[in-house]
Amino acid sequence: MASSIKVESPSVRYSNDYIEADYDYSNTSVHQNHEGSYIATPTSTRYTFKTERKVPKLGVMLVGMGGNNGCTVLAAILANKHKMKWHTKDGIQEANYFGSITQASTVCLGNSPNGDEVYVPMKDMLPMVHPDDIVIDGWDISSLNMADAMERAKVLDYNLQVQLRPYMEDIKPRPSVYFPDFIAANQADRADNVLSGTKQELLTKLRQNIRDFKETSGVDKVIILWTANTERYSDVIPEINGTAENLLSSIKANESEVSASTLFAVASILEGVTYINGSPQNTFVPGVIELAEKRKVFIAGDDFKSGQTKLKSVLVDFLVSAGIKPRSIVSYNHLGNNDGKNLSAPQTFRSKEISKSNVVDDMVDSNHILYPDGARPDHCVVIKYVPFVGDSKRAMDEYSSEIMMGGSNTLVIHNTCEDSLLASPLIIDLVILAELFERIQYKTEATTEFQNFNVVLSVLNYLCKAPLVPSGTPIINSLFRQRACIENILRACLGLAPTNHMLLEHKHA
Ligand code: NAD
Repeated sequence: MASSIKVESPSVRYSNDYIEADYDYSNTSVHQNHEGSYIATPTSTRYTFKTERKVPKLGVMLVGMGGNNGCTVLAAILANKHKMKWHTKDGIQEANYFGSITQASTVCLGNSPNGDEVYVPMKDMLPMVHPDDIVIDGWDISSLNMADAMERAKVLDYNLQVQLRPYMEDIKPRPSVYFPDFIAANQADRADNVLSGTKQELLTKLRQNIRDFKETSGVDKVIILWTANTERYSDVIPEINGTAENLLSSIKANESEVSASTLFAVASILEGVTYINGSPQNTFVPGVIELAEKRKVFIAGDDFKSGQTKLKSVLVDFLVSAGIKPRSIVSYNHLGNNDGKNLSAPQTFRSKEISKSNVVDDMVDSNHILYPDGARPDHCVVIKYVPFVGDSKRAMDEYSSEIMMGGSNTLVIHNTCEDSLLASPLIIDLVILAELFERIQYKTEATTEFQNFNVVLSVLNYLCKAPLVPSGTPIINSLFRQRACIENILRACLGLAPTNHMLLEHKHA
């Protein structure tokens, strides 16, 4: 399917199968001389990007399909696909994909002849899967059918649930791998849909499930995404999970420290299927990353960046880049959904605490005027389970900053919204962008063959709270930098210069 944007340029070539674009990547190389001065040298590297134009039929397997996010994603896709409308106390509401950058945000393509900025939906930049066409399948340790799971989640309006029920009641999650030691004990009463066997046998069953889904659904391509409970961290022990070989041997040996999520990641990679981790735990132990590298399969994560952390990665960026010095950031959350219940156990809370804690590091490290000795602001994260509020999560943040001449500035933010309605569009973006990046290849003057991006798909970091990056690469948390990365790579694939906001043509005398 052709994208609705056509670039007219000698550097961009369209064939039936590909869009090929030559692109000069301009950067600046910096070093310090003997006197300590910074010497900056402009650099330019010629890239050629090649994007496959045929959009495949995409199947997405959700681990934790019966949870609040899982059933809300399925419900949202069905509601959009069937153009559902429903009555709320405020009037008629129509299905939409608000909150998804691909579906509901725009990109400034350029300027019209009279100088106006022309905005296009991000989804039109390159040929992308439409969410209405995604086929959802997956696993859950709870056997509830998807209509009942939607009712249990208490996320969507009742009148919408009534319309969705007939489409969802016959869909049941596949039985899953359940290792109680990795999630909170309070989850045991919903675990009535579990596979049995040794870890090796379970791995074989998961691989069979993936193949079975692909064959019976007729999809061209599958992506797997973990939106199941947050697990505790696995111990990273070189002999157990430090290399791909050790990890596969540990699975054979039924080693207890291999988590369910790591087993899913291994099954996915062995089947050549991209695996995305939406929760904070360290699924991607070194052995998984090495296995992905060996098999050339994409992985991405960790932990959806949906609410409080998303705002934090905007607000701290604003403060630090305005020359204001955040001294303390205190974040309280309370939520009453099953995620909150699971996070009420200390070991799963710890995974979330780690994931939420490093989000300001890159912004603080970028400003040695404010932070000359590298000391970070105080940063405290509290999460409490309060059943009454259900999926409507409350996040309260206090940012205290030092301003000029020792003055102080305190910002207090109160954020209330349905957690799963923030996370579900991120799931849609993650799989749509991951699928697109499977179809993009590049080469430089130094390489003769086209190649894929690094298997650690860091371009998805906008959507992740604790971004996984290839080893030795800077970690970017700043939301606008992350968004600019996506937008400008999409532009590069069309041979278009990055967005620079200079508007020089409007600054002439
Ligand atoms: P949820 O508890 O409603 O759903 C999780 C589902 O996973 C449950 O249905 C549970 O039965 C199932 N499950 C647990 N272990 C499983 C296993 N081994 N195999 C298959 N299924 C399993 O939680 P949720 O609100 O949907 O959130 C899902 C995950 O996303 C959580 O880990 C949460 O921390 C993470 N997350 C959510 C948000 C958000 O909702 N805004 C943001 C960031 C991260």
